[in-house]
Amino acid sequence: MFEKKSLAFLEGWVDGLEKIGSGLPDFTPEADLEGIRKVMALVVERMRDNLPYAHPLYVGQMLKPPHPVARLAYTLSLSLNPNNHSLEVGRASSEMEKEAVAHLAQLFGWETHLGHLCGGGTLANLEALWISSQVKSGRKILASSQAHYTHERLCHVLGIPFQKVDCNSRGQMDLDALKKALDQGNVGTVVATLGTTQLGAVDPLNELLTLKASMDIRIHADAAYGGYFTLCENLRSETRAAYESLRGVDSIVVDPHKHGLQPYGCGCVLFHDPTVVQFYKHDSPYTYFSSSDLHLGEIGLECSRPGASAVALWATQQLMPCIPGGQFAQDLSQSRKTALELFNKLKTDDRFLTTLEPELDILVWGPRANSAERISRLSKRIYDLAAKNGLHLALTQMPSSKLQAQWKEVAWDQEFVTLLRSCFLKSEHLDWLDEIWNRLSTAVEQAVL
Ligand SMILES: *Cc1c(COP(=O)(O)O)cnc(C)c1O
Repeated sequence: MFEKKSLAFLEGWVDGLEKIGSGLPDFTPEADLEGIRKVMALVVERMRDNLPYAHPLYVGQMLKPPHPVARLAYTLSLSLNPNNHSLEVGRASSEMEKEAVAHLAQLFGWETHLGHLCGGGTLANLEALWISSQVKSGRKILASSQAHYTHERLCHVLGIPFQKVDCNSRGQMDLDALKKALDQGNVGTVVATLGTTQLGAVDPLNELLTLKASMDIRIHADAAYGGYFTLCENLRSETRAAYESLRGVDSIVVDPHKHGLQPYGCGCVLFHDPTVVQFYKHDSPYTYFSSSDLHLGEIGLECSRPGASAVALWATQQLMPCIPGGQFAQDLSQSRKTALELFNKLKTDDRFLTTLEPELDILVWGPRANSAERISRLSKRIYDLAAKNGLHLALTQMPSSKLQAQWKEVAWDQEFVTLLRSCFLKSEHLDWLDEIWNRLSTAVEQAVL
């Protein structure tokens, strides 16, 4: 289930780093190998209590292992453990971060940017919302009811008034609802989600930009999960139009640790206008004396940060650049193709009820039954039985009101209905689709017995 061959070369690369200490008196730290062996045996045993996230038959939550080159580059850089807070304590890795972040800005068609890596999408959104509140002081932030739950919480933390905007049946921000909210006045920022976490829905960003043209508002794009899909070759034309509009927003969040093949702890925030740097101004009595270049700690809210994350992302971009038509782009297209193919199979099989066609690579569906209560119960049984058959799905809840128009024969005896959900983040899922289908079919047969 794991790629192991590349691990054999790690020692040689660590040797390559020894040059840093050349000219210094020899110093070779010892490790308690016997003790490490014992503890690692315990670690292996403890870590076995997990689902097989790296296997193509794990199609539950948004998970995939980092690329082998990311794992190696990350591990190698831990020999030094650089800190990307300042150039003094993470010189090479800070430069690599600037290059990696510039590559992401380029992905969205930006010629200017200010940005950096951070712990993840939540922290990246915190920074973007904080800057919004500085630029549009005292004004509301709007996000859709399908936006990530952390936006409301972050606004609470930041003391910014927050308002939810209702969604249409596709899970996208509803434009009429948005216009009504804008008419109420005092809106500073609208958050557009490009790839919602539950459904992979993409807000109509092009329409939002049209509204912005005649209003004094900022637009922040939360593309933590979906950002990389701007490279995807088989998007619906409306989805494509939303992605093309990314270049016109004020800030973007993208998570290299979601679709960018990185270990956790790698989010990225980008601002189109580099002059927002003024809001970060602070005086540190001890960290910024080594050079007059901008230190990453001067353009971010966090202090210490892993240089290893930047090294891993930089290495991955060298091998798999984010360019149209490249391997990375093809893999994303394959992820969406997998979701589409499964959707088409489900749609033509009367054992299932489908929602709308997936926009990205997340698919939500349910077993056909005559009431919301029965659909929910069956979904949970299928989820359990499939897991016993080695197929790992996820469960999700949708408001019944959003499905009533599509599933006319269902009695809506509950406010929410539990459904099955799959994320096809690994490009290998496509080759496993028949196996996934067979195991799903078996679970459904067992569930209705
Ligand atoms: C995952 C996600 C987040 C949160 O990101 P973390 O990296 O988990 O902190 C925010 N917004 C969207 C749309 C996401 O999918």
